[in-house]
Amino acid sequence: MSELRLNRATKEWIVVATERAKRPHQFLAKSAKERLPPFDPACPFCPGNESQTPPEVYILRKKGVGSPKQNWKIRVVTNKYPALRPRGKATEISGEFFKIAPGIGQHEVIIETPWHNKSIATLGLKQTEEICSVYQKRYQALEKDRRFKLIIIFRNHGASAGTSLKHPHSQVIALPLVPSSIRHLLEEAMRYYDDHGSCVFCDMMKEELLAKSRVVLNNPAFVGFHPFASRSPFETWIVPKKHNACFGNSSPQEIKLLAWALKAVLKKLHDKLGDPDYNLIVRTAPIKDAQEDYYHWYIQILPRLSIPAGFELGSGVYINTSLPEHTARFMRE
Ligand SMILES: [Zn+2]
Ligand SMILES: [Zn+2]
Repeated sequence: MSELRLNRATKEWIVVATERAKRPHQFLAKSAKERLPPFDPACPFCPGNESQTPPEVYILRKKGVGSPKQNWKIRVVTNKYPALRPRGKATEISGEFFKIAPGIGQHEVIIETPWHNKSIATLGLKQTEEICSVYQKRYQALEKDRRFKLIIIFRNHGASAGTSLKHPHSQVIALPLVPSSIRHLLEEAMRYYDDHGSCVFCDMMKEELLAKSRVVLNNPAFVGFHPFASRSPFETWIVPKKHNACFGNSSPQEIKLLAWALKAVLKKLHDKLGDPDYNLIVRTAPIKDAQEDYYHWYIQILPRLSIPAGFELGSGVYINTSLPEHTARFMRE
């Protein structure tokens, strides 16, 4: 029997198609990934090619010797082909029926390492901590710009996740508005808070810890689990234990433990499923809602193990051909 499951936080219904369910190991990436060299002279993100990107807005340098230009651990640059540009005034909407707002925003690329062939799954813990810390630094820098309303940090891993450059990188986009999908999420969280007097994400985390079967990671500051109503196989949420709506407000100790959690989850995916493509999204409250009691930031990792097709696009209901209880157990083994 198939069943419909409700994600209490997002209010999304999903179909768990247990009759078509695959065993977790059947998701092992079929085509072996191309082996990348540690350095690619044609890659604009590799050391020595710094002039091919816009100048840095932030750089973390290596201590010690080497050419000062190439002596870096992490570089943050504006995107050469940005979706939005930071020039201009705050949003002025024009048009009677066909509305237009100026494309103001900021689009940055975080080049996570000089190594062309590494990723968080294979980098050291220290480097991952520094990546998480740079995520936060960029968040904190961009939230000061009063034109921006929402900051999205994300990582596309692999071609099917939408990446065009193979060199490991994340992206940050600051938006001048709060899109309707995020407003919907906030409204649902607010409604839950009004009805229950508690944060739906805090409650979900407690329930997942009680149920145990979908938990893949538990450290002093974070819980990782495959949500009861996972959209797709191996969807993973990493949720901070301490209530906090805004990623930018995490403590230094939380950033350290976040790196540990992130690396653990991504390494497991890499080792157990043969380095699948995935999207990683830091889901944090709009800037003005940073202190709210009803919203809670988290990281969502969506491996690209199934392709949303006509049914998903038409209904907004995702069909998951795996049980999160099974995939979580496979990850823990
Ligand atoms: Zn490269
Ligand atoms: Zn909470």
